[in-house]
Amino acid sequence: MNNKCVFCQIAKKAMPAKIEYEDEEVIAFWDINPSAPVHLLIIPKEHISSLNEIKPENQQLLGKMILVAKRLAEQKKIEQDGYRLVVNTGPWAGQIIHHLHLHLLGGGTSEIQPKK
Ligand code: AMP
Ligand code: ZN
Repeated sequence: MNNKCVFCQIAKKAMPAKIEYEDEEVIAFWDINPSAPVHLLIIPKEHISSLNEIKPENQQLLGKMILVAKRLAEQKKIEQDGYRLVVNTGPWAGQIIHHLHLHLLGGGTSEIQPKK
């Protein structure tokens, strides 16, 4: 846990977010500045700053993050039209939040926008 990290704050509910999924290891919420009608972020609750920091013991956690993304794509009904999973790593990729996160991007209609 990193007290200065925005996503750690969201994970411990010290900062608000539109949460779509949560379990003991993972939390998923809407991106505050969406690039697509469905733009969710799937993060580990544990502070891992980027893909560069992952270890073999994180293998199960990373698999779970992808499974959560797949289930959310189904829930938002974008799995047939298609979607992208993106992990920006480092400055070249434009990583601005240094807490590992999976972007789930897709959707083409307004009815899948987040609830206000
Ligand atoms: P990046 O580090 O470039 O992969 O992307 C970080 C993403 O986090 C951006 O798409 C931001 O819009 C998003 N973001 C930043 N702060 C928040 C927040 N407090 N709640 C939800 N999304 C956020
Ligand atoms: Zn963090």
